[in-house]
Amino acid sequence: MFDFHMHSTVSFDGHDNARRMVQAAADKGLREICFTDHIDYEPGEQQTMVFNTQAYHDAYDDLTHPAVKIRRGMEFGMLPDNVSQFKADMKRAEFDFVLGSVHFTDGIDIYFEPYWAGKTVHQAERRYLEETLACVQVHDDFDVLGHLTYISKARAHPSPRPVPFDEHREIIDEILKILVQKGKGMEINTSGVDRCGDFLPYDVYFRRFKELGGEIVTVGSDAHSWDRVGQYSDRACAILKDIFGYVCTFEGRKPIFHRL
Ligand SMILES: [Zn+2]
Ligand SMILES: [Zn+2]
Repeated sequence: MFDFHMHSTVSFDGHDNARRMVQAAADKGLREICFTDHIDYEPGEQQTMVFNTQAYHDAYDDLTHPAVKIRRGMEFGMLPDNVSQFKADMKRAEFDFVLGSVHFTDGIDIYFEPYWAGKTVHQAERRYLEETLACVQVHDDFDVLGHLTYISKARAHPSPRPVPFDEHREIIDEILKILVQKGKGMEINTSGVDRCGDFLPYDVYFRRFKELGGEIVTVGSDAHSWDRVGQYSDRACAILKDIFGYVCTFEGRKPIFHRL
């Protein structure tokens, strides 16, 4: 099994150090993992959510395990206006894998209450999807779109649910078409299962992605602590096996296809 989305204490919100995370991966029998620490810029704020490059190298440069391949990546928080910042941050290290994620909409962290004030759930989802579309249109430096439908697990969500594909079909199609055009992949993020009852995003999104010509798919737990490493990876891979017959890992920004 694989887990290509996790955070160690190199990330501002990680709870366990890289060695502890790798040991957890080994204990769970994972073959290959990738650290994807946060580079997230809150509009107007200090860079509190951006990892320290020296800490990154200190944590990973000498990190090996006999049973687990360890890749190095990052999760960049895309905004419609931070394309040049993304380019600059790509120079921090030689990354195997780069997730592009959307955590903010209209300059507000969608995880918290202020974003949700005055919006129905449908409206909150729609604005987030519009922002995601704007981001994938302008950004090119990511390999895979992280946790599409992340809004489903927002702490401030009044009634957590997976984002219904049918309610937002047209805009989701636009997002997926751009990913296909640009040769980008889509992640099945398992952290939604305990928060909203399904994967981020769920199987229907991947069936549509494949229909539109999408090929690159990765699995990630988004673990911020050792106990969630690889969580539900087997269930996510069963979905990908059914739809694609494989899952991807990355080395040196190139996808590797593993038959399931
Ligand atoms: Zn994220
Ligand atoms: Zn993450």
